[in-house]
Amino acid sequence: MREIHWLMNMLTNMDVGIVVFDRQGQVIVWNHFMENHSGISSTEIKEQGSLFDVYPIFKERWLQNKIDSALLLDCEMFVSWEQVPHLFDFAAYRPVTGSATKMYQNITVNALKDASGEASYISMMVYDVSDVAVNKQALEKINRELELSSRTDKLTGLFNRGYWQEKLSEAVQLHARYETAHSLILFDIDHFKRVNDSYGHQAGDEVIRQVADSAAQSARVMDVVGRYGGEEFGIILPETDAEGARVLGERLRQEVETLQIPFEREQLTVTISLGIASLNSSMLDEDKWLQAADEALYQAKEQGRNQVVVHKG
Ligand code: GH3
Ligand code: MG
Ligand code: MG
Repeated sequence: MREIHWLMNMLTNMDVGIVVFDRQGQVIVWNHFMENHSGISSTEIKEQGSLFDVYPIFKERWLQNKIDSALLLDCEMFVSWEQVPHLFDFAAYRPVTGSATKMYQNITVNALKDASGEASYISMMVYDVSDVAVNKQALEKINRELELSSRTDKLTGLFNRGYWQEKLSEAVQLHARYETAHSLILFDIDHFKRVNDSYGHQAGDEVIRQVADSAAQSARVMDVVGRYGGEEFGIILPETDAEGARVLGERLRQEVETLQIPFEREQLTVTISLGIASLNSSMLDEDKWLQAADEALYQAKEQGRNQVVVHKG
């Protein structure tokens, strides 16, 4: 008898929520944990009639199904915080961040048998897993940010060379499988050394940023714009033939030509030269494709710069 008394005491004061209710939601057990976090005393919740009215989520089909399964199959069911973060709408004060959030819960659902052996009561254990949940979410956020920054060029916000080349390789693989047309634009700022030499490195950086913005704005959603090198850029144009790429390249060329880039008290202007190559069956890897676009770019420079040249592949 003394043991039962002690056990009851321990269950009541345990730092885990314990709730027992019948099929209609009439509460039989509501321990201190539940009282403290809900602000509803054990007497009050028992007088309420049904737990399902106090926490309407209990009326949802999926939860009723879980409860029915626990009763019918006499097996333990779970509700994890990743499926349903806050089954009981409890506040949680986070001492580390000082922020108040809702308590994340893992919950087990069990059937309890009465004297006749019939399972007619349901018990729930409510575990506060807020620390785990908050840490996991913070980690996921950091990972997402890391992934984003590992593929982004800091100066321009475009994709960096590594990530851009991965996309280039993927385009080659897609072409091998579906033989759809893909094109590539490589472009380079003309006489960029003069900008650096006349106005300094900071002015050069500003020019790079503005040209990159123009490229990002000219590109369509599907296009992949990257900073290939110092003042060299690449645009992958999926499902675009050479003519489509030339039109886009020509538009970008004109746009850059008209840019007035403010630096200190000056307005800087620059031009770009562009080389275009479409993927064809003689290019088995991205290096050959890049090489073709680079040859076209070289020709654009040779012919006087500020122009678009399409590689005759
Ligand atoms: P061309 O018309 O033949 O392209 O002439 P260019 O002067 O542009 O020659 P090139 O493309 O070889 O010049 C690249 C210069 O860009 C050299 C390098 O000092 C400068 N550069 C490379 N990266 C950066 C950068 O991040 N910021 C700045 N400000 N300059 C850079
Ligand atoms: Mg250049
Ligand atoms: Mg260059």
